[in-house]
Amino acid sequence: MPFVLKELIMTFYKLGLIGYPISHSVSPQIHSAALKEAGLDGEYKLYPIAPDDKQGLADLLTQVRMGEIHGLNVTIPHKQNVIPLLDELTPTAEAIGAVNTISLQNGKLVGDNTDADGFWNDLQVLVHGKHGISRNLNALILGAGGSARAVAFALLQHGWGVSITSRRIEQAQTLVTHYASQQIKSVLYDPTTLHSLLPILSLIINTTPVGMKSHPQGSPWIDDLPFPPNAVLYDLIYNPAETQLMKDAAQAGLPTRNGLGMLIGQALLSFEIWTGVNVSAEKIDLS
Ligand code: NAP
Repeated sequence: MPFVLKELIMTFYKLGLIGYPISHSVSPQIHSAALKEAGLDGEYKLYPIAPDDKQGLADLLTQVRMGEIHGLNVTIPHKQNVIPLLDELTPTAEAIGAVNTISLQNGKLVGDNTDADGFWNDLQVLVHGKHGISRNLNALILGAGGSARAVAFALLQHGWGVSITSRRIEQAQTLVTHYASQQIKSVLYDPTTLHSLLPILSLIINTTPVGMKSHPQGSPWIDDLPFPPNAVLYDLIYNPAETQLMKDAAQAGLPTRNGLGMLIGQALLSFEIWTGVNVSAEKIDLS
């Protein structure tokens, strides 16, 4: 094919993010860097859609169906709202009950979820890092909202026992009921209950927004509760790079990791679904 003609028919990838509010999102930076690294033309736009704007959501999905938009990420509050508007879910999105990636495949709108693999892949850096981890695969998840679902799914898939705690215990119980597995249980968010769990824990994951910039400062770890001696701590928060929880855990001798790797990982998995190109996380520099 003549070079000029090939250039003319190269796809201009129209990608974006649906959510609300999303003005703070760093996804455009990640995807712009991925497009550049992959040598593809395109853009990644923010589509703020208010929680009750059903028409706005439907109109955007129509644009994906028409091929006018090539891929969308979905974040709060639409990860579950979009499901009835899609034709198919991947087994992962179906199991988690939430969608973060939409693409058009063989004329069908398909919902996928890359949060679980993004988390799991990045967790390996912490778990198999220089510190290693005991063979005791028992995790405690703090918080039981949207991201906790994906985190719990990843851990259960890989044979971990999961305890999940939230200030509203019903929320943790709902998540436990959703997965219907012997390997997951809800536990009260109180010092006595959590203290009794400490000897078996090898991993703590924070999925609450406590400690995030412009959210409640402080730590979701209960005051005066010691940290388990042989555990590691993963905090889904990435801004600030080191939360109060991470500082306290590190002081108690726990290896820690923030959620930036998960954020980049889930983005690059979405990018691969849309473009077919696998970009390495090391190539994404957000500084
Ligand atoms: P979400 O659905 O709102 O869930 C948050 C959970 O934290 C809920 O269980 C909530 O309980 C609990 N919580 C909120 N404030 C709390 C407090 N002061 N004390 C104790 N528990 C509290 O949010 P999400 O989507 O799961 O996101 C949670 C965090 O993860 C955010 O900081 C987000 O930026 C981060 N995140 C990171 C990534 C990544 O790729 N690294 C991906 C997704 C999310 P209540 O309902 O009782 O408030």
